[in-house]
Amino acid sequence: MNIEQLYQTYLQHPVISTDTRKIIPGSIFFALKGDKFDANTFAQQALDAGAAYAVIDNGDYNVSQKCILVDDVLSCLQNLARYHRKQLNIPFVGLTGSNGKTTTKELIRAVLSQHFNTYATYGNLNNHIGVPLTILAIDQTVEMAVIEMGANHQKEIELLCSIAQPTHGLITNVGKAHLEGFGGAEGVKKGKGELYDYLKTSKGVIFVNQDSKVLTDMVAERALTDVQYYGSDIGNNISGELLENSPYLKLRWKIKNEAYHTVQSQLTGAYNMDNLLAAICIGHYFKLSPDEINTGLSGYQPHNNRSQIVKTASNTLICDYYNANPSSMFVAIENIGKLPAGRKVVILGDMFELGEESAVEHESVIQKAMQTAIDERIFIGAEFYKQSELVNATFYRSVEDAIGAFKSRPVKNATILIKGSRGMALERLVDLF
Ligand code: ATP
Ligand code: MG
Repeated sequence: MNIEQLYQTYLQHPVISTDTRKIIPGSIFFALKGDKFDANTFAQQALDAGAAYAVIDNGDYNVSQKCILVDDVLSCLQNLARYHRKQLNIPFVGLTGSNGKTTTKELIRAVLSQHFNTYATYGNLNNHIGVPLTILAIDQTVEMAVIEMGANHQKEIELLCSIAQPTHGLITNVGKAHLEGFGGAEGVKKGKGELYDYLKTSKGVIFVNQDSKVLTDMVAERALTDVQYYGSDIGNNISGELLENSPYLKLRWKIKNEAYHTVQSQLTGAYNMDNLLAAICIGHYFKLSPDEINTGLSGYQPHNNRSQIVKTASNTLICDYYNANPSSMFVAIENIGKLPAGRKVVILGDMFELGEESAVEHESVIQKAMQTAIDERIFIGAEFYKQSELVNATFYRSVEDAIGAFKSRPVKNATILIKGSRGMALERLVDLF
C-alpha cells in the first residue's frame, strides 16, 4: 500500500490507536515497537478489540486482510503525519526549549482558542511518536495548531520539524536539560537551534525572548530576519513587567508604545513571565485583541504539577514535581525565595540525565538553596545524598526514607516547594503535608 492509499484509508478512519488496552473502535492500530514488547504480536488482539486496520511490519503476524504490512511501522506513522500535515493549510506553531514548553503551549492554546479553533499537543506527547499522533488528530475544522517538540539528542528537532512543518516557531529557552544526550550545554543550543534552522530555510516566523542572550545570539548567528521579539525591554514588540508574585503572578504588558494592559494569572513562578509574554506575543501576532489575550491568560489554570499551587489544611504547596533539571531548579528556588515572608521549605529530589555533570550540578543546586532565603532545605535521592557532608541541611537517600521521617516530624504553616525529576515521583510525599 503506498502512502496515498494509506492516506485514503486514514481519511475514512481518522483515529489512531497504538495501545491494545485502549483501542478505539474503527481506529487504525499502529504496531509500534516498545522497549519491552513488539506490538506486531498484538495485531490480532487490536482487530478483535475493534480496530479497523492494523499496520504491522512483520509478515509473521499478517493474520488478516485488515493487516497492512509496511517496511517500518514508526516511519510509516511519521510519513502519514507528514502527508496529512501537507493537506492542512493552516499555521503551525512549533515550540521547543529546555524548560516551559508544556506551560507555554497551554498558554498559547488558551489565548489562540479565544479566537480560533486551536489544536495543541495533548499533554506532553512531544516526541517522534507523539508529534505524529498530534498531527493525525487534527482535522479540517482546526484553524491553528500548536505543536510541542521535545528532544534529548541532536537531529531530533530536525526530524520533528520535517513532520510538523511549522510555519511559526518558538524556543522557550536554552538551559541545562538532557545534558547527557545532547553532549553538554553547546550541544543543547545546537539541538534546539534546529527549529530556527528549519524556519530559516522555510521562511517561517520566529518569536524570540529578547531577554535571553543565548536566543538572541542564535538569531544573530543565523541572520534571521522574520523575528517577533518579546521581553522586559519596552523597545520590543511586546514588553511586560511583573507586578506581583504572591504567589500568583500579576503582570502588565503592552504593544510597543501603547498603553499597558494588566492581567492576573493563576500561575506562580517569576520564570512564568517569559511563558506568559510568549503567549501574548503570539496572540498579538495572530491579531487577537488585548482583551481576548487577557481572557485566555487569566483563565488558564495549571493542573499538571507544573508550578501548581495547592493549599492544604496545614500548608501551601508549590507542586512542581512533574520534572526538574538544573535550570528549572534554579528558577524555582529563586522564586520561593522571593515570595512574601512566611516559613519557606524546599524539598528537592534528584535530577536525572545529567551524565558527567551530575555531581557538579547537584552541588550547585544545593549551594543555590543554601544561599536563598529559605527556612528549611531537604534533599532527597542518591545523587543529592552523595553531597550530604557538604552543608548543614537534611538529606534522605530515598523517598521512602523521607516519608518515614516526615511522618514523625510533620511540617506545618509553611510554603513548600516540591520539585524533582519525574523518576523520583515526589507526588508520593504530597499527602504528608
Ligand atoms: P518537558 O521537557 O518535561 O516536556 P517542558 O519544557 O514542557 O518539560 P513544563 O512542563 O512546562 O516544561 O515545565 C516544567 C518545569 O520547568 C516547570 O514546572 C518549572 O519548574 C520549569 N519552567 C517552566 N517555565 C520555565 C522557564 N521559562 N524557565 C525556566 N524554568 C521553567
Ligand atoms: Mg513538556
